[in-house]
Amino acid sequence: MVHQSDKLWVRMIRAKYCPLALGDFLFGENKNGSFLSNSICKARDSLKDGFVFRVGNGASSIWYDSWLHVGPLWKMVPFIQIHDTDLRIRDLVAGQQWSLDDIRTDIPQQAKDCILHGRVPKLNASLHDVWVWDINPVGIYTVRSGYDWLKERSEASPINPPHANWSWIWKLKIPENIKLLVWLIAHDSVLTNGLRARRGLTTNGTCSRCCREEETVMHCFRDCGEARNIWHLSGLWSCCSDFASITDPVLWIRMGNSQNSALFFASLWWIWRAKNAMCIDHLKIPIPTVMNSINNLYSLIKNELNPVPAASSPQRWVKWENPPAGFIAVNVDGSCFDNPGPAGFGGLLRDDLGKWLLGFSGHIGISYNLHAEIEAIRNRLEVAWNYGARRVICYSDSLEALRLVGKDPGVYHRMA
Ligand SMILES: [Zn+2]
Repeated sequence: MVHQSDKLWVRMIRAKYCPLALGDFLFGENKNGSFLSNSICKARDSLKDGFVFRVGNGASSIWYDSWLHVGPLWKMVPFIQIHDTDLRIRDLVAGQQWSLDDIRTDIPQQAKDCILHGRVPKLNASLHDVWVWDINPVGIYTVRSGYDWLKERSEASPINPPHANWSWIWKLKIPENIKLLVWLIAHDSVLTNGLRARRGLTTNGTCSRCCREEETVMHCFRDCGEARNIWHLSGLWSCCSDFASITDPVLWIRMGNSQNSALFFASLWWIWRAKNAMCIDHLKIPIPTVMNSINNLYSLIKNELNPVPAASSPQRWVKWENPPAGFIAVNVDGSCFDNPGPAGFGGLLRDDLGKWLLGFSGHIGISYNLHAEIEAIRNRLEVAWNYGARRVICYSDSLEALRLVGKDPGVYHRMA
């Protein structure tokens, strides 16, 4: 909806539910409406912090266009002084810093802080002011980048319970059907008799194999007689002191995974298969047959899904070479202490004999790695030009920066 406004479905939904400019849609109020409208607003509220306003020509009105995360400024002031009515974003940029001195209207401190803490834009008359998705360099929202960003924020949140992150299950090097079983166990969603009784599917939650106690997940997979025999025969029962006593299924699986992962999951799978054969098909699989199947599955997981990595590729040595006669070689590099973080760049010029001509370095402020690389290239080409060089070969270690310099990055790119 943000970056593909010409699509028919976007036009239809925006015409019906949010006939507003994009900024007003991103930071507008949530009007109680239909299920679809509420769902759109819910997704918007989760994602809007990932958008930033990329100033191009600075022609947006500081009052009536939404360009701040606090919403449109006109809503935050009792009235706008007549001298301020036509103020544009470009009127607030004075060289390398924001200047709010010309605003006569009394704007709240929250809005001032929001402006002053934002990056000072470099005005570019050929670009419009747009909201861009700040999570990927191209600036265009994708479902994948949105999902990854939300997941990262969720995992970093201190209010989440310790089991909120399940990505470790899907990263296990085991067959997909076993991953699904592990996920069901971790969510207490395996259809044991205990769960069936809780859901009203049966009146008796007792284990149908031993008839001794309620069939919980831990009873089904570890404590029932036959399961216990299998863990003893596989040697995992005594692999660590807590294996037989731990009660949390997630901690128990993570413990098994940390001991002998392939054997643990092969045993878990065949305990489940043998249990179903008995309870559903009324077929008793002999223990030696179960152990043989576990052994086959163990070999499959061990050898095919977790192969020993091949020897690393041979080292390749590279060295600086003189540019062709008459050319000047420009080597540049940019870097950040974090991303974003304090950024700088440097480089040097050498002639076709390899002789050092001059060096340079600079500080950018708080920015991104890619920005530092691009600034390094731009700045160094300027220096080479002023030095009188007209035939230049520029070397950078950032393929993305070179790609962006060589072609149009698109209107939403945050480095445009
Ligand atoms: Zn039992």
